[in-house]
Amino acid sequence: MSDIRLSLAEIVGEDYVSDREEETYFYARDPGLMPAHKPDYVIVPKTTEEIQKIVRLANKEKIPIVPMGAGMALTGLIIPLKGGIVMDMKRMNKILEVNEKARYVIVEGGTSHGVLKSYLEKNYPRLRHSIPDAPATATIAANVMIHGQGRLTQQYGFNSDMVTGLELVLPSGEICKIGSCSISKEWFSKGAPLPDLSGLFLGWFGATGIITKVAIKLYPRKRMRDVEIFVTDREDLIPDIIYEITHTEMVEDINIFAQPLPMIFKDNHHITIFLTGDTDEELEFKRKMIWYALDGFIKSKDGGFMSVPPVMKPTLLDMPQQSVSRFADVKKGGGFEYSGPIILVERYPECSRKVMELASKYDLSYSAMARIIGRGHCMMFGFAFTFNRADPDMMDRTRKALQEVSDYALSAGGVFWKPTVNEQRMALERMDPNTRNLMKMIKNNLDPNGIMNPGNWEVN
Ligand SMILES: Cc1cc2nc3c(=O)[nH]c(=O)nc-3n(C[C@H](O)[C@H](O)[C@H](O)COP(=O)(O)OP(=O)(O)OC[C@H]3O[C@@H](n4cnc5c(N)ncnc54)[C@H](O)[C@@H]3O)c2cc1C
Repeated sequence: MSDIRLSLAEIVGEDYVSDREEETYFYARDPGLMPAHKPDYVIVPKTTEEIQKIVRLANKEKIPIVPMGAGMALTGLIIPLKGGIVMDMKRMNKILEVNEKARYVIVEGGTSHGVLKSYLEKNYPRLRHSIPDAPATATIAANVMIHGQGRLTQQYGFNSDMVTGLELVLPSGEICKIGSCSISKEWFSKGAPLPDLSGLFLGWFGATGIITKVAIKLYPRKRMRDVEIFVTDREDLIPDIIYEITHTEMVEDINIFAQPLPMIFKDNHHITIFLTGDTDEELEFKRKMIWYALDGFIKSKDGGFMSVPPVMKPTLLDMPQQSVSRFADVKKGGGFEYSGPIILVERYPECSRKVMELASKYDLSYSAMARIIGRGHCMMFGFAFTFNRADPDMMDRTRKALQEVSDYALSAGGVFWKPTVNEQRMALERMDPNTRNLMKMIKNNLDPNGIMNPGNWEVN
């Protein structure tokens, strides 16, 4: 095995490969609840060519490879279940090109959302991208790989819908371009009008290839952003309220949160509505349209706008929202995990009841948060629990609650988002057999030696 370490060191240099205990300890786990498993090696490549050489070596020696961004998906997707190499992408963090007029950016496969955000603010203040509320170190490639969602998801769909091109290293070691960039030097489309091959990679958790470059759409950045909060204690009305707001086509993003603390939030559902505009008039117009759309609920006294305290505004308008990370440490033990099935908005009332029922059954701190996707086609409903890592009993209760969420999500017609390995198995069992066979054909053809993030999307 030390021959392997030597060969890896020849590719990336001694400083960027390790099999030391203190390194493999960290790369064996993520902040969630999945059990740790150590890699044999950790490697931090700098170029596509280095990745190509590593993959070729791994393929020849049949050693697993797990690509890793910031390791923040929380559901164990970067835990090397069968050992092998964890490939930390953080040195591949360059912004390669911005096409201002066509509004897209090409970045390397380890570039973080934070780096892109700062770069755009400094160099292209009229452009922005869809930022998730994950810690700013979360990477763009990994986020589209797991079909993440960000601030522009309400308008434009999943962040992966915003991809306009990919470069990958395939499990065989070939470098492959996907989309318009396979024919042209322009990266404006990941598929149309060609066959859309991005589906062979996006959503596969690195089990079919490693993204070395990704292009994503950029959008106009307006001069002003503001937030309104509509509050109701009638969870049954939420789907109708969302329907009315999305009908206006006036809002940037819609999140709904319900949580027991602080007391001011208890028993209410808070629909946070984000607005943007280049002028006061534009913002005011949009605000009026939303007020008008919700007038019926106000008149029937089923809900109303809450005046957002000035101290709360910066927190809400922050991108990413730090409050999400703060909630993650409510129990002061650094433990946080959420199951976020993608599900119809009409299921909001029962999802909301479910999270409260589970919190009470397992005596846990919870937060329910929903993000509307694509003007209400569906939503991500986050069943979020925070726990203290030093308290095994609390961790066990959280695990049980999340298992119940998985069972519930499937029964309610939802589809798991960033599923754990166990949830992937549940999804495959439930899947139409012909679809499952198609997945098997794709996986077996692209990765016949099963070296890429093994354990994930393993179709038998
Ligand atoms: C407090 C908090 C808030 C969050 N809020 C959001 C949110 O609002 N929206 C959201 O979408 N998510 C959110 N998340 C979840 C998650 O952090 C993000 O989705 C994040 O973008 C994942 O990126 P990562 O770099 O951490 O991925 P990782 O966990 O490192 O990787 C995720 C998957 O992608 C694969 N992968 C990584 N890099 C590559 C590559 N280059 N090529 C191929 N495969 C690769 C990995 O093998 C793994 O399967 C949140 C998490 C936390 C902790």
